[in-house]
Amino acid sequence: MNYQTILDEIYDEIQPELMRGKVADYIPALAEVEKGQFAMTVTLKDGQVFSVGDTKKEFSIQSISKVFTFTLALDIYSKELYKRVGVEPSGNPFNSLVQLEYENGIPRNPFINAGAITITDTLISHYKDEYKTLEVIMNFIREISGNPQLSFDPIVARSEMEHGDRNLALARLMKSFGNFDNDVIATVMTYFKHCAITMNTEELSRSMLFLAFGGTDPITKKKFITPAQAKRVNAVMLTCGHYDASGEFAFHVGLPAKSGVGGGIAATVPGKMSIAVWSPGLNKYGNSHAGTLALEKFTTKTGLSIF
Ligand code: GLN
Repeated sequence: MNYQTILDEIYDEIQPELMRGKVADYIPALAEVEKGQFAMTVTLKDGQVFSVGDTKKEFSIQSISKVFTFTLALDIYSKELYKRVGVEPSGNPFNSLVQLEYENGIPRNPFINAGAITITDTLISHYKDEYKTLEVIMNFIREISGNPQLSFDPIVARSEMEHGDRNLALARLMKSFGNFDNDVIATVMTYFKHCAITMNTEELSRSMLFLAFGGTDPITKKKFITPAQAKRVNAVMLTCGHYDASGEFAFHVGLPAKSGVGGGIAATVPGKMSIAVWSPGLNKYGNSHAGTLALEKFTTKTGLSIF
């Protein structure tokens, strides 16, 4: 299949959609990102890369980082992790408090904010302090992305803390139910920092490759998690990766994928490839409008969906 031709076609077809949607503005530092930008990258098992658009442009990966922290926590805690966080779709927005109250402080899944903050809490408990935890997360993402220079944007992280009342409320609520071990501020700050990691689509696509290949990077041959664990991470991406639009995403695109409010979406085609797309205009669920459409076009044109 000629992936470059397919990406070029998608790039042309997606142009009328790029100004649609709304850039995330509840994090003021993200509100400054210009709409109308688009990039898409496909990475194959043998390291071949196909790209279109602004593929060197770094963006805030936001909630896509939750895939990486979930992977790390699963590797450490295995099934024990599910005592702290579930694996069911929430059917609610990513920052909802209501469900957490009536489900006794156990978040539905690791990809809504409450679940991801819990995951960060488990990592801090394991590594003993938040600085070491952030270093482990950063080094892991540097390794899987192939870019040892990757870092997070401190301005975005600070901006999120300044307006972070809802995430702090989620953490405090979990603490009140006994589902939280560490300092709330330090834990939520660590969560904001990993959300503020910046990557371009080439790095992001590369970093998802191990998940498309059963937990082992097919290029470096390094094993990060077991095939059974990789199956779980992909399953949760499929069922929970787009919050209350996860069903719609599975219906239209049909791939395990995770979105972030920075406008990125990272997807796997298990056994075949990983894909990253970025376009900052978001739909009402907080997922990239043009990114979702581009992935739908990709699976339609190639027939590469898991269904
Ligand atoms: N850091 C963002 C938040 O906590 C992540 C949300 C997202 O990307 N959906 O609100």
